[in-house]
Amino acid sequence: MQRDPLRSAVEALRADFPDKSRSWIKRALLRLGDVKEVREELYVVEGRRELGDWRPLYQVWWSSAEGRWLCTCYYTQFGLRRRRDICTHVAAVMLFRRYKRALERVEKTPVYVAEAVVECRGRISANGEVYVKPAVEKVDLTFFASPRFRVLVVSRSRRIAVKCGGYVVYEAEGEEVPLAVAKFLIAKFHEGKD
Ligand SMILES: [Zn+2]
Repeated sequence: MQRDPLRSAVEALRADFPDKSRSWIKRALLRLGDVKEVREELYVVEGRRELGDWRPLYQVWWSSAEGRWLCTCYYTQFGLRRRRDICTHVAAVMLFRRYKRALERVEKTPVYVAEAVVECRGRISANGEVYVKPAVEKVDLTFFASPRFRVLVVSRSRRIAVKCGGYVVYEAEGEEVPLAVAKFLIAKFHEGKD
């Protein structure tokens, strides 16, 4: 089963900074939605009053000279103390980057897809996510006489089986594609284009 990307990101951050408290991680999580990537090694983090911020925006950037992330909050009156530590703006950026990488890994994870037309009067199911629509342009009496459906299945297993009312009516080897491609195929399936 695929790991939840946010959970992987939090665990990666925790593993990289084992001496950091739970509240440090929690504050990074609370800030995750406030992070915007300006470019590869420059970020802005919106300030949050409830987290003790008094500026609307903080900049976080990678300093190759110091070999660490720096934040504009290190350059304030109380910044020196913060600077010796890692502020949670920087923590949020590090979490953001790990989350983004985890998401990209998920997008690249291969899944299997198969498309078929099946005739079915019962419930259509499959060993994966199943998308169903009538196989005809117009649903009329002919359709009700023999209801045929176009079925798209996205599965973690190569062998895909489509069932109608609990009985296998279609079986095939799925095509291996990245998850991102499967999502694209699902969108197209809903649009009704081939
Ligand atoms: Zn900061």
